[in-house]
Amino acid sequence: MKFDYLIVGAGLAGSMMAYRVKEAGKTALVIDKRSHIGGNLYCEEIEGIQVHKYGPHIFHTSNKKVWEFVNRIVPFNYFHFSPLAMSQGRLFHLPFNMNTFYELWGTKTPAEAKAIINQQRQEIKGEPCNLEEQAIALVGRDIYERLIKGYTEKQWGRSCQELPSFIIRRLPVRYCFDNNYYNDTYQGIPIGGYNYLINNLVRGTEILLNTDYIENRVQLNTLARRVIYTGTIDRFFDFRYGALEYRSLRFEEELLNQESYQGNAVVNYTDADIPYTRIIEHKYFEYGNQPKTIITREYPMVWQQGKEPYYPVNDEVNDQKYALYRAEAEKQEKVVFFGRLAEYKYYDMHQIVEKAVEII
Ligand code: UDP
Repeated sequence: MKFDYLIVGAGLAGSMMAYRVKEAGKTALVIDKRSHIGGNLYCEEIEGIQVHKYGPHIFHTSNKKVWEFVNRIVPFNYFHFSPLAMSQGRLFHLPFNMNTFYELWGTKTPAEAKAIINQQRQEIKGEPCNLEEQAIALVGRDIYERLIKGYTEKQWGRSCQELPSFIIRRLPVRYCFDNNYYNDTYQGIPIGGYNYLINNLVRGTEILLNTDYIENRVQLNTLARRVIYTGTIDRFFDFRYGALEYRSLRFEEELLNQESYQGNAVVNYTDADIPYTRIIEHKYFEYGNQPKTIITREYPMVWQQGKEPYYPVNDEVNDQKYALYRAEAEKQEKVVFFGRLAEYKYYDMHQIVEKAVEII
C-alpha cells in the first residue's frame, strides 16, 4: 500500500484530516472530484477581492484551543458578522436584538420589548414541535412572519411547520443592543481568504483532483490501508436505503463598477416573493477598499445528482434513513465517515476542526 490513508474530499473535513495524518507522521492521498481544493470554503480572487464562491463562511468558536489552532495555520482578522435583513423594503438588524425590536416596534428598553414578545409567545403551549412553533416561542409572531418565515421557507423549500426546531435555535435572541450574529468568544476570517487555511492544512500531502471516489473506488482502495470519507453517505452505499435529501444553492455573481453596493457583507432578503435569500458583498469580509465591488445573490434550490449538496435536511424521514446508513457505516472497519455530508449533520466549521483533533 502506497499510503496510510486515502482521504476522500478536500473540504475542511478532509483537509483537517490531512493535517492530522501528517502530524501523526503518517501518509495520505487526498482526492476530490472537483477541480480545486477547499470544498465550499473555496475563494477566488477577483479585482483584489476574495470571493467566497460557495457562500459566505465566517469562522466562530468559543473553544480557545480551536481558535489557537486555526490561527497557527493562518492569521485571522477581527471580522464580526452582523448581517441585516431586508423586509418589505426596510432594513432590520440581526440577530434578533434590541436594535431589531426598536426598528420593528419602537421599543426602547428590554422591558418594553420583553412585554411584546412575552405576550406574543403565549400562543405556543408546551414544547415547540416544529420550527414555526419554536420561532414564535422564541421571538413571537411579528418577527416570525417578517424575518423568519419567508427566509426559512425559501432556504429549505418547505413549510416551517415541517422543519425541525433546532435550526432556528442556531440564532441568538438578545435583550441588549448587540448585532453580533454569534455568541462565540472568537470569530474572524483568514487574512487573505480561506484558500490560505486549506492550502496550509494540506501542504506536503499528495492531492488528486477531478477524481471521483465512487466511480474509481476499487482501484483507489488499493492505494491505502484506511479511508477517511467526507462525501455523501448515501452515495457511498449506492443509495441502498434511498437517497437522502440535501439543499443546494445557486449563486449569481456580479462585478459592479462602484465602490460599494450595500455597505455590509450580508443582507438577508426575508420576503417570500424575492427568490434569493441573501446578497453577499465580499469585500466587507476583509475591510476592502477596492474601487470595484462584487456581489453574489444566493438562491436556494432542490439538490439533484450532479449539483453540490450544501445542507442536510434533518427532518424525521431523512434522519431515520440516515440511521440505516450510519449502522452500515459502523460495520466498515476500513472507513471513517467524517463531516457534514458523511455524517448528515449541520456542522459548523469550528465543530469540524474540534472533531478532527479527536478522530485519529
Ligand atoms: N433565519 C431566518 N432569517 C434570517 C436568517 C436566518 O429565519 O434572516 C433562520 C433560517 O431558518 C436559517 C436558520 O435561521 O435556516 C439558521 O441560519 P444560519 O444563518 O445559521 O444559516 P447558515 O449560515 O448555516 O446558512
